[in-house]
Amino acid sequence: MKALRRFTVRAHLPARLSALGQLSTNLRWSWHPPTQDLFARIDPELWSLVRHDPVRMLGEVAPGRLDELAGDEDFVAELDRLEADLGDYLDRPRWYQNQQAKGVDLASGIAYFSMEFGVTEVLPNYSGGLGILAGDHLKAASDLGVPLIGVGLLYRSGYFRQSLTADGWQAEHYPSLDPQGLPLRLLTEPESGAAVLLHVAMPGDRVLRARVWIAQVGRVPLLLLDSDIAENDAELRGVTDRLYGGDQDHRIKQEILAGIGGVRAVRAYTRSMGLADPEVFHMNEGHAGFLGAERIRELVTGTGLDFDEALAAVRAATVFTTHTPVPAGIDRFPLDLVRHYFAGRDGGNDSALLPGVGVDRILALGGEADPSVFNMAHMGLRLGQRANGVSRLHGIVSRDMFNGLWPGFDADEVPIGSVTNGVHAPTWAAREWMDLARRAVGPELVEEARGWEQLQDIGADELWATRNALRAQLVDEVRRRVRASWVERGATEAELGWTAEVFDPNVLTVGFARRVPTYKRLTLMLRDPQRLRALLLDEERPVQLVVAGKSHPADEGGKALIQQVVRFADEYDVRHRIVFLPDYDMSMARYLYWGCDVWLNNPLRPLEACGTSGMKSALNGGLNLSIRDGWWDEMFDGENGWAIPTADGVQDETRRDDLEANAMYDLLEQSVLPKFYGRGADGVPVRWVEMVRHTLQTLGPKVLASRMVRDYVVELYAPAAAAARTVVADGYAGAKRLALYRAQVAAKWPGVQVVQVDSSGLPDTPVIGAELTLRTYVRLGGLDASEVTVQAVLGRVGPEEDLTDVVTVPMTHVGSDELGEEYVVDTVLPLSGAVGYTVRVLPHHELLAGDAELGLVATPAG
Ligand SMILES: *Cc1c(COP(=O)(O)O)cnc(C)c1O
Repeated sequence: MKALRRFTVRAHLPARLSALGQLSTNLRWSWHPPTQDLFARIDPELWSLVRHDPVRMLGEVAPGRLDELAGDEDFVAELDRLEADLGDYLDRPRWYQNQQAKGVDLASGIAYFSMEFGVTEVLPNYSGGLGILAGDHLKAASDLGVPLIGVGLLYRSGYFRQSLTADGWQAEHYPSLDPQGLPLRLLTEPESGAAVLLHVAMPGDRVLRARVWIAQVGRVPLLLLDSDIAENDAELRGVTDRLYGGDQDHRIKQEILAGIGGVRAVRAYTRSMGLADPEVFHMNEGHAGFLGAERIRELVTGTGLDFDEALAAVRAATVFTTHTPVPAGIDRFPLDLVRHYFAGRDGGNDSALLPGVGVDRILALGGEADPSVFNMAHMGLRLGQRANGVSRLHGIVSRDMFNGLWPGFDADEVPIGSVTNGVHAPTWAAREWMDLARRAVGPELVEEARGWEQLQDIGADELWATRNALRAQLVDEVRRRVRASWVERGATEAELGWTAEVFDPNVLTVGFARRVPTYKRLTLMLRDPQRLRALLLDEERPVQLVVAGKSHPADEGGKALIQQVVRFADEYDVRHRIVFLPDYDMSMARYLYWGCDVWLNNPLRPLEACGTSGMKSALNGGLNLSIRDGWWDEMFDGENGWAIPTADGVQDETRRDDLEANAMYDLLEQSVLPKFYGRGADGVPVRWVEMVRHTLQTLGPKVLASRMVRDYVVELYAPAAAAARTVVADGYAGAKRLALYRAQVAAKWPGVQVVQVDSSGLPDTPVIGAELTLRTYVRLGGLDASEVTVQAVLGRVGPEEDLTDVVTVPMTHVGSDELGEEYVVDTVLPLSGAVGYTVRVLPHHELLAGDAELGLVATPAG
């Protein structure tokens, strides 16, 4: 009989072992091997049976065993030591507190919103890179002591579990999770102790209610909203059923809950903990963008600001991170759907969901070229005074992609910066590497994930031995998973003897694992099946290839790609050298990053915003073989791996795939294999080990999530907090001033004109460095000279009279006459060749993050 509903009974711990409660629910155990060892000691067999899940472990262990351990002095001493260690980790001042002690002005708190969080496989609340990144962000913030609160949804069935049918088609399963059996606690009211119940208004006078679970990620709380409660009707209970499942209507409900409910959850949490409200709100992608609308509502109803004043205050405190380089990847809703959810009662303009806020203003936040569409990324950019992409290349692509929101500016002036993603070393580096690093650097640096570069000092023998050990572990894991997959596909045990011989611990191992959208080109490796076969089956220098990845359930094309790989891997002659492992998730990924010698990535450039799997491989001494896209474009240095040449300009996609696949095979044959199999007398591949060493040394420090989080803290959170304090001070005086300024600039800008531009001092044959004086007269349309900035712009004249390689120089206001306000600058020619110049006027205000922010510019007419 099938169980109607699953529930989990939590163990009653003997008093002497009560610390196991905190050690099992604070997810710091997931990146702290000594704590994992302690759980393993309770019952090694059960530990492996529950797949290293401490909460399940404590729920299933025999009570007699716990009583026994309570009397085991050795165990209790280790438990006490680990409890003290966790206490120290949670309380001791860390990097952030040390910065503050030095007088560095940092944000007092940050709320970080994301639709998915991949912290550990026991909390499967993620689908792929975005979620893992968010998880790593929380962990690194915890290690650094950053006062961050994570906010998202708790999905009853997470994403999906993948298996294969007999003919290699992806099958999806949605096992339902019981929050009671997860490392979560309920957020409760401080006075009554009752569970906090959030309310979010839905059309037709309905109310969506949600409770809030807290996952403790080291020092960082992660608030997860859950609508699956008896107080909701069946339809609303299902709002948090699955990640990225359902239609647009389902999705907007999720995003409304995450954004609007999320802010309410933060307020309930800080109230319950007696904490100050966060100064900064970070949108990790546009999905939770409605959080800005809710904060506007709070200010409008709570402090009596008008919409524009509230917007100015919200913008100052908001950071928006975009993650997609393709317009098709942006979250967009039919405008009418957004209107439906935000509309006023009886069709009035006062939103029923956000009373006090006009629906027209909310809809305008997501406006884009197509008037019938609401664009979540545009809303993010309009609500965040600071915005960034996730690698240098992605910054460039994003400035170009969103240039339309800053018309009149060149793409490189669009105020979107970049912070390159990173990965959490204690989560992703094998224990072997962490132990070596700890030996070389000491425990403290490892905890903050610094000092990775010290691994360069380790001897070639030890480096190579570590690589071999990790590859061997992967081979065991591959065999186990191949066998399990074939059992699921209907094979009998008797047919599966061969799976014990799949893969060889001494063969060069290439990994390819990621989600399966088209641009990632899962099947590029199969472009020339004969050539791949020859590589796999070479007698002297073979390759073995492990492939994994999930396709979105609605993406039949992606599933067909998976099937293509599976069918190839099923073939009798190659099945010992190429495998497709179903159900790519954190627990599998770990083995792949540890064990693969080469990490293959062949996206269609520049569609990979950053990519992080190659970083995790690099932390383990894996060498990247990748298209120069995302992070690899900025971090490849010629010796830390290989760049597959891209056929960027080639329009014909088939031809482009052929060219790039051939380049990949060539690299494998001509460079990768000779290095790996070129052994010295002692069996060590000297040139390979040197590349591994160089990878650890050069990439180690750059790919860390701690580097990424420090960048966010310094470049985005601290300036946002400072801006937020300025606009809030004196009863929101700054917000009011800024809103008034924006309104006036908008009204008066049509009257701003560049009337005349003159130059003098230019010699007949100008040379670089020649001095010249530029003078201009501008009309300011009623604005004050202090409210604008006037710039000379010099650059190379392109074929269409446009300027490139421009240099801008501020001009000085020297007076006014009947022509207008007069500005002058003495400058030098920055370039040789065909040089041109012009003048432009921009709005300028101390509370703007930059002069391009408002997207307004005036240049000479004609
Ligand atoms: C790191 C990771 C990803 C993201 O990898 P990309 O290189 O960004 O595609 C996806 N899934 C899992 C399980 C990961 O660990």
